[in-house]
Amino acid sequence: MIKENINYVEQVIDKACMESGRNRRDVTLIAVSKTKPVEMLQEAYETGCRDFGENKVQELVDKYEVMPKDIRWHMIGHLQRNKVKYIIDKVYLIHSVDSLRLAEEISKEAIKKAVDVNILIEVNVAGEESKFGTNMEEAKKLVRDVAKLPNVYIKGLMTIAPFVEKAEENRQFFQQLKKLSVDIAAENIDNVSMEVLSMGMTGDYSVAVSEGATLVRVGTGIFGERNYSVSI
Ligand SMILES: *Cc1c(COP(=O)(O)O)cnc(C)c1O
Repeated sequence: MIKENINYVEQVIDKACMESGRNRRDVTLIAVSKTKPVEMLQEAYETGCRDFGENKVQELVDKYEVMPKDIRWHMIGHLQRNKVKYIIDKVYLIHSVDSLRLAEEISKEAIKKAVDVNILIEVNVAGEESKFGTNMEEAKKLVRDVAKLPNVYIKGLMTIAPFVEKAEENRQFFQQLKKLSVDIAAENIDNVSMEVLSMGMTGDYSVAVSEGATLVRVGTGIFGERNYSVSI
């Protein structure tokens, strides 16, 4: 089932790329495996997935220990400063940096472990109360401030769009994030790249790809519904 799901998602991405004139190689599918057991991740791995997304530090570390070492782990959930040290040398990309204090902690731990850490700035484009992320107005200043920190490299922006009935309703937010990334790129800030746009989930990744997503984060569409009452 997971194999078929991945093939289907890949086809949708292919189609969205074709229709919007994008190169398929510029879009990477992240399999969001939070709450799912390693057997399911293993199946996705065997299908060819090398990018996995988790939103809890402990779960990411546990899975990191047992899964193959060529996996690129993406931290996509809210990150508490006191937990940065556990994942700093295990993650490929942290998508959820939304404050200078968190970035400073990442920088501090990165220096300690002598690693360079790639991050995205999470932007709450729709301004939803319930969501983390810096707001549109503060995003540029945050990028400029974080850019000065050693061992931390901004690679782009990330957003979690609202939960909507129709994916089209989120197109405006994907367009706004893309525009913001173009604006920031034009500032040519040292140590800052805007090559990555992490946007689009099961309900709306096709729209996100057509608006320029380079990373799409698909969970339910690959692994099925999540059951939060069952612990893994
Ligand atoms: C859970 C999660 C996803 C995947 O959501 P689905 O709707 O299951 O595809 C994507 N991004 C983030 C940040 C998440 O927490």
